[in-house]
Amino acid sequence: MDVEQFRKAGYAAIDQICDYYSSLEQRDVKSNVKPGYLLEQLSTTPPTKGEAFPAIAADFQRLIMPGITHWQHPKFFAYFPSIVTFESILGDMYSSSVTNPGFNWSCSPACTELEQVVMEWMVTILGLDDVFRTSSGKGGGGIIGTSASDQCLTATIAARERALRILAREHHSANGNATPTQGPTEVPFSVRQESTKQLVMYGSTQTHSIGAKSALLLGMPFRALPVKAEDGYALRGDVLKAAIEEDIKKGFVPFFVIGTVGTTSSGAVDYIAEIGEVVRQYPTMFLHIDAAWAGMAWALPEQREPLRLAEVNKYADSICTNAHKWGLVGFDCSLFFVRDRRDLTEALDVTPAYLRTKEADAGAVIDYRNWQLALGRRFRSVKLWFVMRGYGIEGLQAHLRNGINLCQDLTAVVSQDSKFEIVAPQRLGLLCFRLKRAGASASELDGLNVELNSRLAARPDVHLTQTILKSEDGGEIFCIRFAIGALRTTKRDVEEVWAEVVKESEGLLQEGAARN
Ligand SMILES: *Cc1c(COP(=O)(O)O)cnc(C)c1O
Repeated sequence: MDVEQFRKAGYAAIDQICDYYSSLEQRDVKSNVKPGYLLEQLSTTPPTKGEAFPAIAADFQRLIMPGITHWQHPKFFAYFPSIVTFESILGDMYSSSVTNPGFNWSCSPACTELEQVVMEWMVTILGLDDVFRTSSGKGGGGIIGTSASDQCLTATIAARERALRILAREHHSANGNATPTQGPTEVPFSVRQESTKQLVMYGSTQTHSIGAKSALLLGMPFRALPVKAEDGYALRGDVLKAAIEEDIKKGFVPFFVIGTVGTTSSGAVDYIAEIGEVVRQYPTMFLHIDAAWAGMAWALPEQREPLRLAEVNKYADSICTNAHKWGLVGFDCSLFFVRDRRDLTEALDVTPAYLRTKEADAGAVIDYRNWQLALGRRFRSVKLWFVMRGYGIEGLQAHLRNGINLCQDLTAVVSQDSKFEIVAPQRLGLLCFRLKRAGASASELDGLNVELNSRLAARPDVHLTQTILKSEDGGEIFCIRFAIGALRTTKRDVEEVWAEVVKESEGLLQEGAARN
């Protein structure tokens, strides 16, 4: 494709994207294809000769679109929102037009410096402490990553290395050696080998699976601590403390805990101050805050207290929130902040001769590769910059408030309806509910809701997802999540989908009554 062909194909692509958005509401929210639909239609042999682009683009419409679930649809209420805005799409287009791997400042100075600036903006927008501002000189900073999963793994590695350095210093002094006071402590291989086996990390049963997965990747145990329904499924400090003490007695070294602000299941906010106070008692411990979904709502002053922002600012070693969920920026754009960026660089800076530059040697620039697992990185700051400029703080706030208000209205309707029960406090745009029936046992209720969920799941025009809330007594409640937050959702969209839930529920209850 040459420049003139690109110009033509590019205009045509934008036209098709615009038509897609204009027709979004007329489509079903969910793709209705069967497994293998595309595998059957595409040849498994790659083309030998190049093809004309219009034919390729036409196949995107013909073959790919039927297999797309429309996350930008106003009736998308499953999982959590994953929004893209036109500003973000254009940002990605510009950034891919100057594709470069961005690992060092010198790869393209604008990549690093724009990221520094927009991450400073995000500190301001979210109300984070100055320590997380790279320019504040207080030691912290921010970087954009791929996903909350990668950032959790990064935090785990940073925490592990910090813990190992502490253990290495103890090892030095136990052997009567002077510990180096300058620069990072080298971790002798024997200490690494011995101590790594003892490390243990924590979260709750409601922690996102990224916690267990990080532990798995590092070959360490992850303890999912129990929570109680009466605490709104949030982790408490005394539970963490008891687990740590128990593990220390067994010879383990506790090194990491995930505190969640807005769990995926129900939006619970862990007791961060309680957890933070416990963490402070153990020098090897590191507190990572997973606010992947809810953290963007720190942009709203009225949500800072319920989302425990002051506690996060006081205690967190690292914080992650995804601008690519509710935050108007297309996937991927995961914002990651650390209190002490040496935790990252001392764990991740491996600089062979071919990556050295005079700017980095002089300490004049940031090389973000030393803050992350991979070497190369996408130029994600452009879309974040475009979105924050296009919307402004007020535009972002209006969008977030719209989702919260719609969810409050829905909650009012659900709580008035005696057929339903709200199983966890409504949080931001998330409501967890289930159907009830007088006299039904816990397992009958679960069965009823599993059936309701599968009837809803069979419909292409309704897209909700389910979860299981586990409480300390071993109780498990199956419930349905209604997650509001797409860009184009209106009160009518919520009402129409809720009406379908009510209709399916009534049908189900009537069948039950007829059987009895
Ligand atoms: C969505 C979510 C994650 C996972 O996010 P990725 O960016 O897809 O890795 C982790 N934690 C919470 C609380 C989430 O809501």
